[in-house]
Order: sequence, then C-alpha cells, then structure tokens
Amino acid sequence: MKKVAVFGMGYVGCVTAACMSRDGHRVIGVDIDQAKVDSIAGGTSPVEEPGLEALISEQVAAGRLTATCDVDQAVRDTELGLIAVGTPSSDDGAVSSQAVERVIESLGGVLNQEKKPYTVVIRSTLLPGILEERLAPLLEEAVGRAMSEDIVLCNNPEFLRETTAIRDYDQAPFVLVGAADSAQAQAVFDLYSKTSAEQIVTDTRTAAMVKYSCNAFHAMKVAFANEIGALAKAFGADGQEVMQLLCRDHKLNISPAYLRPGFAFGGSCLPKDVRALARHAQRHAIDVDLLASLLSSNDAHLRRAHRLIQNTGKKAIGLVGLSFKAGTDDLRESPQVVLAETLLGRGYDLRIYDPGVMVSRLRGTNLAYVDEHLPHLAALLVPKPSMLYEHADLLVLGTEVASGINWRSDFSGEVLDLRRDLVTARSSMAVS
Ligand code: NAD
Repeated sequence: MKKVAVFGMGYVGCVTAACMSRDGHRVIGVDIDQAKVDSIAGGTSPVEEPGLEALISEQVAAGRLTATCDVDQAVRDTELGLIAVGTPSSDDGAVSSQAVERVIESLGGVLNQEKKPYTVVIRSTLLPGILEERLAPLLEEAVGRAMSEDIVLCNNPEFLRETTAIRDYDQAPFVLVGAADSAQAQAVFDLYSKTSAEQIVTDTRTAAMVKYSCNAFHAMKVAFANEIGALAKAFGADGQEVMQLLCRDHKLNISPAYLRPGFAFGGSCLPKDVRALARHAQRHAIDVDLLASLLSSNDAHLRRAHRLIQNTGKKAIGLVGLSFKAGTDDLRESPQVVLAETLLGRGYDLRIYDPGVMVSRLRGTNLAYVDEHLPHLAALLVPKPSMLYEHADLLVLGTEVASGINWRSDFSGEVLDLRRDLVTARSSMAVS
C-alpha cells in the first residue's frame, strides 16, 4: 500500500485517484478548486464519468480517498505525488505547462522543509523536454538541493478515454513509466500492482513522445478514414464498407507493418497510387489534405537524409542498397535512387552496392528506368562490398542489404544508417 497525492481533480486525476484507492492505496486528491474538493469529500464526483461517482463514494466512505486544497498536508502525508493538472494549448498552440509548474513549486517548497524522500510523477501530457529542461531544474530549486535518489522525477503518461476511463484504467494496453532507471520506475509500477497490464520502463522523453504519438495516430486514423470515405463516395463506392474491409486485413493494415520509422517509402506502387488518388481528388475539388501531403512528407524525409549526409562533410560516399528494398531489382521510385541522384548532382563521389541490382542482370523496365533516371549507374555499382569500403569515407546504409554485409568489422570510416539515424537520437552503436 502506498500513500499517494494526486494533484488535479479533473477527468484524469479523479479516475486515477478513485482507481488507486480502490486498489488499496491511501490517496489524497488535491485541487485548487474548493468546489471539487468539497464534492469528493462529500462522496460525489466533480466530473461526469460513468461509474466514477459510485467508486468515489465507496472509497471516501472506506476512508481510503480524501481530498484537500492544502498542498502542505498532502505532501507531508504521502510518499509519492502524481501530477494530473491541465496542460491546455497556449494562444500560439504551444502546450502550457504553467499549472504543472505551480504544483512542482508548491510541493517542492514543502519538501524543502520536510527533507524526506519523495517521488514526483508527471501524469499530465507534456511535450518531451519540458520535464527534463523546465520541471527538473524547477523542482531542484524549490526543494533546495540537487535531484538525488531520494527526490525522483519521472513520468507516467495517461491513456484513458473519457466515458470509458475506468475500464481503460483497468484494461490499459500497458503501464508506461519514463524514468532514469528501473528502480525509480518500480515505485510507480507498485501503484498498478492490481492491474495485469504489461509494465514498460523507458526514458522520460520517449515516454512523453509515446503519448503524443498515440493521440496524433488516433487523429490521423480518423482523418484518413474520412478522406477515404469522401473519395469513395465521389467514386460511387461505400466508404464505410471500404474501411471495414481495409480493417479486416490484419497482416498489412491493422498491424505493425509500415509503422517502423526509418527511411522514405518508394517502389512501384505506393507513390503511384497515392499520386493517382490525390490527383483525382484535386480534379474533383475534394479536399484530402492528408492524402495529398503524403508524397511531400516523403520528400521531406529524403531531404532530411541528404542534410544528414551533408552535415558529415564527407564527399566519398558508399551507398548500401539501391532498390527500394533488399531482395528486389525494382528501381522504380526507389528513394535510394533519388538520394543517389541528388548526391551525384551535388558533386559527391558515389559508389553503390546492391547485390539485387547488378546492371549486367537488369533487363526490360528496370534497365529502361536506369537508363532514364540514373545513366551513370553502371559505373557506380560495385560488385563487392569491399570495393565500397575502399572507396568511401562515409558509408550510407539505405536498406536491409546492409544486414547481409560485414560493414561493422570491415569498414573503419563513418557510418550513417538511414534505417534509424533519421528517427532516433540514441546512438546506433549503443542500441544495436
Ligand atoms: P481537467 O482540466 O479536467 O482537470 C485539471 C484539474 O487540475 C482541474 O480540476 C484544476 O482545478 C486542477 N488544477 C489546476 N491547477 C492546479 C494546481 N496548481 N494544483 C492542483 N490542482 C490544480 O484536466 P484533464 O482532462 O483531467 O487532463 C489532465 C491532463 O491529462 C492533461 O495534461 C491532459 O492532456 C491529460 N489527459 C487527459 C485525458 C482526458 O481524457 N481528459 C486523457 C489522457 C491524458
């Protein structure tokens, strides 16, 4: 059993406080709004949420859930504080962390006097970086000593949906904690010992980003489904049936397929078919901004790759992989081809290795594609990886062709792995 203070008795805070007290913890709800505090103290819910009022009433009667406006008392009587206050949009659209900062200042002030170990958990949704760069220094300043093992700051993003919040709490996909190490995270996991959800610990920036990614993903799914629906209608088809059938494919559609960030998409189908849909929509004045943005989003990713290469200052480049994925000789709209063209156009000294694309074996469409798009290709392709290593001072890994060669042991220059270096701040070597 833990003694917990939950700051912010809104939708998230109330559900969290009620469920945690139901699961055996002693919980103090804290809010600046006296009416909300009175409501909980009287056994009623200050927010409308199915099942919540009954739970609050039961927990208050059992003496496990109390509420107060008094931060001093709440911090003195607990070992862990969950912050679930609002983080609304500012006028310019940025997230406002003001309410969270006020809580940090006031609870830190109490800890300055109390000198006891305490864990502060950010449950509110905040962009990565705010905890590390704004809240941590603020907490240290308020507590009056450097963050140490006895003062812990971590985050535990919230995935509840209003109207099904209690069920979502009990059947969470996972409990995610961002912390410096698993010992710090354990104090938070202990709060969820009654739920069977998988417990995952990561760093605080990744945890915060997961929350934003989930909401962006949900918003994108709705926008995508609506755009497909609008196009289907214009084509005389039934958009609801189209999406129902799309969702029945659990291999490629409702699955992790295509959801691993890395390099740009390409190939003979995706760009062509997205372009056809966007073109049709444009001709018929159907606004499908999301679909229409896919190819320019992909181009932007390619430009990021080029910038990454440019920033190394290296000029002798060895590109691993030329077709849009390993194991095919199909070069149509391969992003690696576009990248190679850009590099050549800007004066880089390029060699390419791709065992699936040997000019001597290319025929038909692929040969025509090479002739049209990359006429110098034959001179640039090398038959052995060792020839790439000899030539290059920068190796650029573009596709899974890289997994089949021994670049780690055989190449001593700089390496850029486009399968991960465009999308992760962690060092390639440290993780792989
Ligand atoms: P809310 O606006 O319903 O409640 C916030 C509460 O915090 C209010 O009762 C307010 O009086 C209180 N508060 C403000 N300043 C305070 C302070 N200094 N001390 C104590 N209490 C204070 O907010 P919400 O909808 O519960 O959202 C809280 C956070 O959780 C936000 O970051 C939100 O983005 C995130 N979130 C919300 C949901 C949701 O379904 N509503 C789901 C997941 C995550």
